[in-house]
Amino acid sequence: MNNDSRPNNFYGVTTPQELLAKYDSPLYVYNESVLRTRCREMAQLLPKSGFNFQADYSCKANSNVELLKIIREEGLTADAMSPGEIFVLCAAGFQPSEIFYIGNNVSDTEMRYAIDHQVAVSVDSLSQLQQFGKINPGGKVALRFNPGIGVGHHQKVVTAGKNTKFGITTDHLPEVKQCIEKYHLKVCGLNQHLGSLFLDDQVFLEGVQKLLTLANDFEDLEFIDFGGGMGVPYQKSQGQLRLDLLKLGIHLADILSQWKAVHHRDIQFKIEPGRYVVAECGVLLGRVHAKKEGYGKTYIGTDLGFNVFARAVLYGAEHDIEVYGRQYSPNEKKTEIVTVVGNICESGDILTDGRELPAIGVGDILGIMDAGAYGMSMASNYNNRLRPAEVLIGMDGTPRLIRRRESLEDLVRNFVPQEIQSATVR
Ligand SMILES: *Cc1c(COP(=O)(O)O)cnc(C)c1O
Repeated sequence: MNNDSRPNNFYGVTTPQELLAKYDSPLYVYNESVLRTRCREMAQLLPKSGFNFQADYSCKANSNVELLKIIREEGLTADAMSPGEIFVLCAAGFQPSEIFYIGNNVSDTEMRYAIDHQVAVSVDSLSQLQQFGKINPGGKVALRFNPGIGVGHHQKVVTAGKNTKFGITTDHLPEVKQCIEKYHLKVCGLNQHLGSLFLDDQVFLEGVQKLLTLANDFEDLEFIDFGGGMGVPYQKSQGQLRLDLLKLGIHLADILSQWKAVHHRDIQFKIEPGRYVVAECGVLLGRVHAKKEGYGKTYIGTDLGFNVFARAVLYGAEHDIEVYGRQYSPNEKKTEIVTVVGNICESGDILTDGRELPAIGVGDILGIMDAGAYGMSMASNYNNRLRPAEVLIGMDGTPRLIRRRESLEDLVRNFVPQEIQSATVR
């Protein structure tokens, strides 16, 4: 596969300049063709070999309803992490049977919401299993295990191993089994999620083996879900290579075939990719409003604060940045070492610190590449800034607004007027 997988017609019939002129800045822009390609790569991860295989899209990466509709059209089902995600998935047309609720420390009400909507539920601790048993005795439940190994690009996204809050550890199997008996539960699935963003499949495959071993302890299994975490190369400009999906597919199929040959069980195998599906179909566009020198540093001041894009501040993520803008005069410096910052009143509001980029000036437009995953879904109103609009470049190359920019009125929408407050107290 081509290492530089960014299509050169990403913006279709339009340009970043035209997009910001029409929809204002900052702006998330998605490309439908890239999204569909990534969906198909996940749906067809296993080489044709007669497996019952399903990719669940983990919608916390990006839950724009229009993108969800496309993802569903491509045959993916979905993971939800909250009642809100179940609600949004249903709004996008997912059937309850196509949703898997992977709860973590959920309340009775949240668990009931999923059960009442006939959405499959996974629990990730003995106490949540007991809670499920009390609410839904005789019901079907999936168990999330922590195999003791994890992966991830940053400690904050390693979701299995010896130092995370997720999953049941195997030493609790006896109590888990007692609880299952007590409440007459059926364990319909096993799942795990080792962490987010791996580009080397070795630990993932080790995790697959471990979960398959655990499957021997459960008779009624309908599915085994190996989790997500498939990474994308964020530094394509530095030659970072793609995850080798062909190799991953072949190795996974080998392991599963061997297991099936021994166990003869008809079980569905699942994965839960989030980032891989949506990261590369998205670019975040923003404007440069200021440029200054300060104590030896060159600062590029933009409207791309961490309210719009949190990954840099939260994980130290370095995304490729493209500069769209001026024509450079022949004797101008072509590149510069700069620190790109946002407009939030915090010193930590830094997109990248000391990176060599094409020379940038006020009025230029920056494109944060591969921003489709954990971009908009983590945007906030911090500093009372408005969450950005989202635009989709369709298969024919034309742009379409798929979420309006927030308005100032949205900022005060949820404040409860005095009359209502006194009425509630009475
Ligand atoms: C977030 C999450 C995923 C998706 O992770 P990616 O790294 O985006 O693929 C899958 N499963 C669970 C349980 C998650 O919490």
